[in-house]
Amino acid sequence: MRRVLLGALAIVIAAVVALRLFQGSPPHVIVVVFDALRADRLGAYGGERGLTPFIDGLAARGVVFANAYAASSWTVPSVASLFTSRYPSQHQVVTTQSKLSEGEITLAENLGAGGYRTAGFVANVFLHQGRGYEQGFAHWEVWHQPPKTRGDELRRHALQWLDEDRAKAGPLFLYVHSMDTHAPFLPPEPFRSQHVAASVDDAAIDRVNGMLVSLDYTRVTANDVSLLDSLYDAEVAAADAELKTLFGELEARGLLDGAIVVVTADHGEELKEHGRLGHGSSLFQEVLRVPLIVLGRGIAKGRVIEQNVSLIDLAPTLLDLTGLAPEPAFEGRSLAAHLRPDYSGCGGVSPARPAPADVFFELLKTGSLYESRRHSRGILRGSMKLLVGVIPRSRKAPLELYDLAGDPDETRPASEDAGGDAEILAAALQARTDVLASRSRAAETGDLDEATKEKLRALGYSL
Ligand SMILES: [Zn+2]
Repeated sequence: MRRVLLGALAIVIAAVVALRLFQGSPPHVIVVVFDALRADRLGAYGGERGLTPFIDGLAARGVVFANAYAASSWTVPSVASLFTSRYPSQHQVVTTQSKLSEGEITLAENLGAGGYRTAGFVANVFLHQGRGYEQGFAHWEVWHQPPKTRGDELRRHALQWLDEDRAKAGPLFLYVHSMDTHAPFLPPEPFRSQHVAASVDDAAIDRVNGMLVSLDYTRVTANDVSLLDSLYDAEVAAADAELKTLFGELEARGLLDGAIVVVTADHGEELKEHGRLGHGSSLFQEVLRVPLIVLGRGIAKGRVIEQNVSLIDLAPTLLDLTGLAPEPAFEGRSLAAHLRPDYSGCGGVSPARPAPADVFFELLKTGSLYESRRHSRGILRGSMKLLVGVIPRSRKAPLELYDLAGDPDETRPASEDAGGDAEILAAALQARTDVLASRSRAAETGDLDEATKEKLRALGYSL
């Protein structure tokens, strides 16, 4: 009983704090996910190519999580984890055929129950209506016209709905999922001219985009990778400019007043750092480390958090920031204490910052799509990262240990001494895997029609 009372008291205090921060009215919550946007391309994350002036400006006005990790390295499991604050082995949304179970509880469901109008505008066809991602969204639109629906069109759809819906009272939860940074890389002007050599013609661009689809990396030359790299840069720059336009429109409608804004990505992109292209086949930094920038009223400005965090922490953080009750099904932890400007670091009335925690990631069996998976699971503790490899028809999973402090690009596997870091981390990962298994569910599938399959093939997924 005492625990229950203390829990109730904690919720009341959290609500009072939230109300004080937001002056009585719950804030709008705006989450923007850029599909396949690697953290290192952003100036706020050390990128030196000047691709993201707008996002860098947002970062300067908010909190940057310098070491944020997706729960998996491709859209289907990663977005399911973002929405449910649960790991892929738990929600079992791990193949192209998967469906997020009705039994899962999402961030949108919590916000909706808390009085939010919930709407999602999505350009990734994997998230189409009927696959369960729309749970909790009163309004859910997925747009995909090959080769891909760009951010400007997605913006028009979102603004159309907002202009029709804005008369309705109440706080808004807006989810925008952009494909601008996802292959195929077809940057519009002026970004193409700014980042791609003038001598490169459309046929050359089609050819290297085709390499992403083929999964045959043996023919990919250094020049091809260099071209893909510049095309990707141009898409990142285009995405940044589009976000500026979107936010200008939201601001004009008063929707950014006091809003909590999150900019992140569902995973990154490999550009042959480890011999591969694309995403969803490994758990290296270039596909796992994502931007996570949070800003808004009541949130610190210009703060960089170095502690490792997971995207499964985002949903509990947003419930915390909006003063809603914690969701017991969520596995992540609130990062709100990192965000509050009154954090003093020495107790007192300010909330203590969360202690460092292990970060886990999973790339589970995915049917025909990822037979070429290199990794299946991983754990990050401090700077030590352990990846569990996959060798087809092999019982013994090879382990790869990296010390990101001295080897941020994972080029030099550390030695696996008996009783050393690899063994300790492998034991911690196994223990965590066992715990998660006890709180997992059976896989569910949804149907993919032939037209959807064709769209996915055009994006580089082999079905
Ligand atoms: Zn994705």
